[in-house]
Amino acid sequence: MKAIEACVVGSGPSGFFAADALLRRVPDIRVDILDRLPTPYGLVRGGVAPDHQGTKNIARQFERLCQHPSVRFLGNVGLGRDVGYAELKDFYDLVVLALGAPVDRKLGVPGENLPGVYGSGAFVGWYNGHPDHRDLAPLLDCPAVAIVGNGNVAIDVARVLAKTPEEMAGSDLCRHAGEVIAAAPLTDIYVIGRRGPAQASFTPAELAELGRLRRTAPKVAPRDVATNLPADSPAAKKNLEILRGLAQQPPAGKPLTLHFIFHAAPQAILGRERVEGIRLARSGVAAEAGAVTDKTFELAVGAVVTCIGYRTVAVPGLPFDPARGVVRNVDGQVEPGVCVVGWSKRGPSGTIPTNRADSFAVIERAVGSIGESLTAKPGGRALDLLLSERSVRAVTFADWLRIDEREKATAPPGRPREKLTRTEELLAAIGDQ
Ligand SMILES: Cc1cc2nc3c(=O)[nH]c(=O)nc-3n(C[C@H](O)[C@H](O)[C@H](O)COP(=O)(O)OP(=O)(O)OC[C@H]3O[C@@H](n4cnc5c(N)ncnc54)[C@H](O)[C@@H]3O)c2cc1C
Repeated sequence: MKAIEACVVGSGPSGFFAADALLRRVPDIRVDILDRLPTPYGLVRGGVAPDHQGTKNIARQFERLCQHPSVRFLGNVGLGRDVGYAELKDFYDLVVLALGAPVDRKLGVPGENLPGVYGSGAFVGWYNGHPDHRDLAPLLDCPAVAIVGNGNVAIDVARVLAKTPEEMAGSDLCRHAGEVIAAAPLTDIYVIGRRGPAQASFTPAELAELGRLRRTAPKVAPRDVATNLPADSPAAKKNLEILRGLAQQPPAGKPLTLHFIFHAAPQAILGRERVEGIRLARSGVAAEAGAVTDKTFELAVGAVVTCIGYRTVAVPGLPFDPARGVVRNVDGQVEPGVCVVGWSKRGPSGTIPTNRADSFAVIERAVGSIGESLTAKPGGRALDLLLSERSVRAVTFADWLRIDEREKATAPPGRPREKLTRTEELLAAIGDQ
């Protein structure tokens, strides 16, 4: 009986967990893991905050998978760019899409296209050295920045802007971004939520960290955290306690203030040549889902970072659900021989561990039907031939280890790595370009 040929497209957490599930579930299988970038690990490298190195340790588990004799990593190979969806279906018995959700959702308000407005995908990608966003050059030459959103990404962005260079010392914040942030004359950061503190989706540990920053004092209006507020989950209850503690902190005399602005919905980004402010409408405390009132107010800010969610990229030929911004699927099944996992299946929710359970469940359903449709698919040999005809330089796992080694070797003292941030630099580090 011939080995099953599987291809996982996307080397973020959901893709690696799917590969892991396949290896455990199917005794005789070969798995190719493709990524459009020359580097593996998706948002573990390009999203997770540079000062939360512990979270990135999961990459070691993924590294071990790449060293499994039945697994190949092929970076710098993009679905829809270097290989078509129909081609992959012709080559492999099973295609697992793990494309993530890299496109920032829009606020949908006037002024959103002004210079100085950034989606968090782009902004976080910039400071984390994602090649797509390396040259974003955000306008941080201003005293005040607004961060729209009440989830952990908003907290990450606020913290990275708020920390001193010394506080970022053990991080892998890219040099180009660290220099711009250190030179920014920031005095005020506003974290803006449409709804109240009890509805914020911060995790308590991340929120509490904002109370311990060296040059930055959080500011919470006591009326926003009144003791009679209902909290529907243990995390919301904990968040309220933390915010109450912050509201009671005496003025700290620190140069930077991090304001939590709740019940405020963006109505317009203001400015002529670039962002000069943001207009917000008060949403009633009791109003359902943060519905707005006609009371508006403005904040003078020079930049806005929106942290309000993401969408998957539509790939030609791939069934897509435009309303949800995900690959069209039923419980992860896309069509015979194709399934989808992670953020490209569910949308941008859930942490790294959430993807494990989800990928394992999708693969369990998918392998049940592989046998029925099994034909003599050529697998990775056919892909190699096609990539060679198209002169695509696939980055192998051994190549990645050379990039990894270079990044570690060039790290400033105390830092884990200095990332290479441009595709040409990454390919050059492999040594044959
Ligand atoms: C800013 C930020 C911070 C986060 N911090 C944490 C945290 O601290 N802890 C935590 O547990 N979770 C965190 N998360 C959530 C976590 O990162 C996600 O749950 C997880 O990365 C989703 O995995 P994924 O595989 O679906 O997507 P991704 O990680 O985005 O991986 C998708 C991969 O697919 C590749 N790809 C996309 N399109 C193509 C294509 N056409 N062809 C080939 N390859 C393609 C991409 O290059 C990428 O490598 C954070 C998320 C963000 C946005």
